[in-house]
Amino acid sequence: MAVPKRKTSPSRRGMRRSHLALRTEAHAECSNCGEVKRPHHVCSHCGHYDGREVVASEGKALKTAVRA
Ligand SMILES: [Zn+2]
Repeated sequence: MAVPKRKTSPSRRGMRRSHLALRTEAHAECSNCGEVKRPHHVCSHCGHYDGREVVASEGKALKTAVRA
């Protein structure tokens, strides 16, 4: 088994960990309901994307079923 020749110095360890910081997640406000959502994703709150309803919300699903 390969074994490290020497102990990693605090400096080396810090250099390795310099890329490990977590970034804040990107977010945008939904143009329909104003809820915070992920950009370029369907709003999980109201099911809207690009100004129209893409995923039927629970209240509207019943209405469309009655109309059909
Ligand atoms: Zn929304």
